[in-house]
This record gives sequence, C-alpha cells and structure tokens, in this order.
Amino acid sequence: MRTTLVAGNWKMNGTREMARALVRAVVEGAGDSPSEIAVCPPFVLLDTVSALVADSKVGLGAQNVSQHASGAYTGEVSSGILIEAGCQYVIIGHSERRSLYGEDDATVAEKFLAARDAGLTPIVCVGESLEERESGDTQAVVGRQLKAVIDAAGASALADAVIAYEPVWAIGTGKTATPEQAQEVHAALRALVAEADADVAQGLRILYGGSVKGSNAAELFACEDIDGGLIGGASLDAQDFLTICRAG
Ligand code: PEP
Repeated sequence: MRTTLVAGNWKMNGTREMARALVRAVVEGAGDSPSEIAVCPPFVLLDTVSALVADSKVGLGAQNVSQHASGAYTGEVSSGILIEAGCQYVIIGHSERRSLYGEDDATVAEKFLAARDAGLTPIVCVGESLEERESGDTQAVVGRQLKAVIDAAGASALADAVIAYEPVWAIGTGKTATPEQAQEVHAALRALVAEADADVAQGLRILYGGSVKGSNAAELFACEDIDGGLIGGASLDAQDFLTICRAG
C-alpha cells in the first residue's frame, strides 16, 4: 500500500510574508489529510519555511540542486546545504529546468546521485511535450528519461525516490491529462522499473503533475498507479492545496 504524497512546487513565487501565511495555513489544515505533504519554496525561503513546518505533518523540499558537493559553482546550491536548511525532498529535472536551463538526462541523473548520496528524497520529473505526444512518442520519451536515472543509480535507488509524471503540455496551461491518459503512462513507468526490480516498482510513488486542482485531484488520485501529485499553481493557495491533499 503506497501512501499518497502531495508536493507543492511554488516555483519563483512568494515573498517571505506570503510564505509565512501560506505555510501556517497548510500546517494548520494538514491534520486531516490522508496524504503526506511537502512544500518546495524558493531557496532563500527554505529557512523561514523550515522553522514553520518543524514538528508538523508538512515536509520540506527544494526545487533544484547542484550535482556537485561544493566548490566554485556560482549560483548553485548543494545537497548538503539543502539538508542543513531542513529539506527532505528535492525536485529534479522539472521540465522548466530541462527546457529553460538546458538540463539533459545525464545532468538529471548526476543530480539524482548527488541528492541520494546526501540523504535527500529526489522527486524526479519526466514528461513529454505536446509534439511528442501527438507523434506517439510519449512512452519512449518518459522511458528514456527514467532509464537515464536507472542506468546511473540502479533500480534499487528508486526505493528512496519519487517519480513525477508531468506532461509538459499540461503544466501551467489549465489542460490536465485525463485520468486514463495519466494512468496509462504511470503504469508504463512502473512496468519499466519492474523489469529491473519488481519490489521497488511496487513500492514506488509516481506522482502526476500538470494543472491539478481541487476539482480534479480525486479522480486522478483514484487511479491505480497514481500516488499523489506535484502541484504548481494550486499550491500557492492554501485552501486549494489542502483540498488536493485531502483527495489522497
Ligand atoms: C509544476 O510546475 O510542477 C506543475 C505541475 O504546475 P501546475 O500545477 O501549475 O500545472
């Protein structure tokens, strides 16, 4: 039995004041959520949010991490720094990192290894573009993205990781994959892991991300292979986010 995880990706949003109010409301409302919950604020707000989620049901994650442990990498943040800031999770390979900052499968795999070695739980994002979906390449694309991590770290490393299937065409667009579309990809991802390790595949949490809202979360999370969500826009509104958490 997999426990649902709902993680909020705030992206580059939030003032300190807004972060405080949002997190206080999420912590206060988290008590009756069947899902595990995490929030992923921008780096400089991690310390503030960390203090507010301490001793609560709400976990903390970052949106990115360097593949390097330390050194002359201006502007980068290491896994060690994230651990010290109180993070348990880190999002890796978000489509915005891939498309806007040139992160390829090899970089994503290196970041996975760095996060795992430091004791963070990586939330690895995979997903196809609209063009790739329309040309029938969805499973090949997400399979390639996931295999890059398996080849680098081994399938057993996924026992301490989370996968997020995020079709690029559904992120921030208001277009959600139907439960059938999402379930089909989630099942294929789990089958790919099962080829290497059936037990790991069975326990692996695969989140769906892409315009999840309070109104569509329950039907998505009811699918057999959907184990929660990675939430962008709706995670900036405490009540919307909590409605999604309660749908788990
Ligand atoms: C995301 O960026 O991970 C995401 C899923 O965004 P949204 O929920 O806004 O589509």
